[in-house]
Amino acid sequence: MTSTVTKLGTITERHFLKNFNNFGLADVILRGISAEGYTTPTPIQCEVIPAIMARKDVLGIAQTGTGKTAAFVLPLLHEHNAAAARPRSKYCRTLILTPTRELASQIAANVAAYGQFTETSVVEIVGGVKPGPQIRALNKGADIVVATPGRLEDHVRTGALKLDQVTSIVLDEADQMLDLGFAPAIRRIMSKLPKGRQTILLSATMPKLIRKLAQDFLKDPVEISVTPESKPIERIEQSILGVEIIAKRDALVSYLSDNKIERAIIFTRTKRGADKVTKFLCSSGHAANAIHGNKSQGQRERALSAFKGGSSRILVATDIAARGIDVDNISHVINFDLPEVAEVYVHRIGRTARAGKSGIALSLCTPPEYGLLKAIEKLIGNKIETEDRTTDGLSAAVVQKPGAKPSNSNSKPKSNNRKRRNGGQHAAQQTPGNKPSSHRNRKPGKPGTATRSDTPNSGLERMLKKTGKRPDARSF
Ligand code: AMP
Repeated sequence: MTSTVTKLGTITERHFLKNFNNFGLADVILRGISAEGYTTPTPIQCEVIPAIMARKDVLGIAQTGTGKTAAFVLPLLHEHNAAAARPRSKYCRTLILTPTRELASQIAANVAAYGQFTETSVVEIVGGVKPGPQIRALNKGADIVVATPGRLEDHVRTGALKLDQVTSIVLDEADQMLDLGFAPAIRRIMSKLPKGRQTILLSATMPKLIRKLAQDFLKDPVEISVTPESKPIERIEQSILGVEIIAKRDALVSYLSDNKIERAIIFTRTKRGADKVTKFLCSSGHAANAIHGNKSQGQRERALSAFKGGSSRILVATDIAARGIDVDNISHVINFDLPEVAEVYVHRIGRTARAGKSGIALSLCTPPEYGLLKAIEKLIGNKIETEDRTTDGLSAAVVQKPGAKPSNSNSKPKSNNRKRRNGGQHAAQQTPGNKPSSHRNRKPGKPGTATRSDTPNSGLERMLKKTGKRPDARSF
């Protein structure tokens, strides 16, 4: 594989000298770009637009927030605009595959916006909605189809869409597609495409399986690696609030009440967890909607548009929403549960601090999640400011032998009947000065500040007595 590797860390002068006019894009597309308010191409656009215009395959490591969508959409729009003939009924020319319905909608909306002065047609093919309107749209032929793999395969199976005239395929957020188990579907779809097509593979990370996919399907690709110009993470005020499991929901409500929240996404690890948190928030006076894979497409769309439109300022989501949501003015990302994969943390908090703004990311962390916190800190190369309100300290996750007497909440941990998780790592040192600013002025005794010692007859104590174990964080 011969490749050109561009590391963004070294943004060269030529990136700044570049201007959308230099790419040779048609005037109608330049008008679309300027209607969107873009004046300067981002680094990934500087690299990817010329490569796609030259009909090269592209392997790009790029996260959302880098301007990657426009990087592949603009040159593809240019090509469709220049094409003499319209696509035939049931055929498409460009196929864009994405992991989630939300991302597919967003890309289709971007195509429509950038191509607003062209005749280019775009059809969105996602699951969870009736297939009829999609079949009718495909019947007219489409320049660009933006799809999630499952529903796309349904249409290919029934003959509503034929793939043998595809000239370009984009695999966007390829790593998330693999995470969601789409690898076999992707391989089946790729096998139906003409050999001479152009393949563009974009992924936020480059695990071995993505490399393998690239080796199998890309020919002599231009390889591009970029991270956002100003890593959003640097503009995000991150903090950790260490709490006992039973105090989690109250801590969340207390935080939402005490802070000025413009728009917040709250991430949970499970769909059930998202529903439970949403219910709890609503019953505590914080109107919220949930978005996750068990919701119907209609519910997902309504939740997202209420959030985007501002009628609901809190969205509770599983990781399905971590990459696909591009909503401005999300002031807060709250991790109700820490993600099991550290990289996901970066994607989640990247929902805030978009478009040059700053943002706040608060993560609740219980003792059983301490190992996940350590993995995140290792990945981002920084210790995150931590306010530890747990009784024994975050690192002192207790696994007591069944039948053992639960420790007195006021006593210090006894090392002989406690096992430290994570090989005995120590909690982040807490000094009075390093508390996250948003928690500094909290008055004692407020909801959410309760710790085990405040609530000796708490559910946790009862559970410890009964089982000798702490409940798993997932049960929330
Ligand atoms: P993406 O990485 O495609 O999700 O894009 C992230 C955000 O950057 C989106 O809100 C785009 O509208 C915006 N964007 C993309 N390209 C540019 C550009 N050249 N100038 C300003 N904003 C851009």
